[in-house]
Amino acid sequence: MRIILLGAPGAGKGTLAEQIKAKHPVAHISTGDILRANVRNGTPLGTQAKGYMDSGRLVPDDLIIAMMKERLGEKDCSEGFILDGFPRTIPQAEALERILSELKLSVDGVVLLEIDDETVVKRLSNRRVCRSCGAIYNVLYKPSKKGNRCEICGGELYQRDDDTESVIRGRLKVYHDQTAPLIAFYDKKGMLLRLSQTDGAESLSEALDRMLRERKA
Ligand code: ADP
Ligand code: ZN
Repeated sequence: MRIILLGAPGAGKGTLAEQIKAKHPVAHISTGDILRANVRNGTPLGTQAKGYMDSGRLVPDDLIIAMMKERLGEKDCSEGFILDGFPRTIPQAEALERILSELKLSVDGVVLLEIDDETVVKRLSNRRVCRSCGAIYNVLYKPSKKGNRCEICGGELYQRDDDTESVIRGRLKVYHDQTAPLIAFYDKKGMLLRLSQTDGAESLSEALDRMLRERKA
């Protein structure tokens, strides 16, 4: 399975990716996670990216495209991948098409996770992330049973620097201005699958599996 996840920050891309990974052999490629690892390790890319990330702006396209070209060329990607957080601009989407055609790979679909802005603000300002394994919690909706420790690994839970209300509002504006145009871009190509927050009867990944099956049928 090779898919692209599209949606506002906080739409649930990371959560959906985790659900898919549990069932399919795919590499979960989160540009945000790769960038944060670079910042933590003080690499040249991390040093260049940090200021943009802390203020909620996009890291320049050329840096992201070079980073993803390298990542998509790695061996695990030929099995399958989930792109989480890339592409985020039209130039990135065009670059992705070139990279994939060089690698002779195609994608099964682009999944749009639909969500409204106020839900995003509420969700992200209460989000907590495990420093060790990256597991995601929410103070309101999904608190850890171990308080400020991770249920899975015992790691410390923290709030990302960009998960404060003012930065979240800025990230939403960036999303609407720069990333939302990708919806029409992929819709025109017949690649878009719209996924709304479900009524709880099926999980997001079950809904996605169903849509991919229906599309093939
Ligand atoms: P979000 O919760 O906003 O989806 P991410 O973890 O995906 O957060 O990204 C965090 C930050 O990393 C973004 O605000 C941006 O600065 C940078 N970033 C991640 N992916 C990209 C990308 N494809 N292009 C440019 N910047 C990116
Ligand atoms: Zn953990």
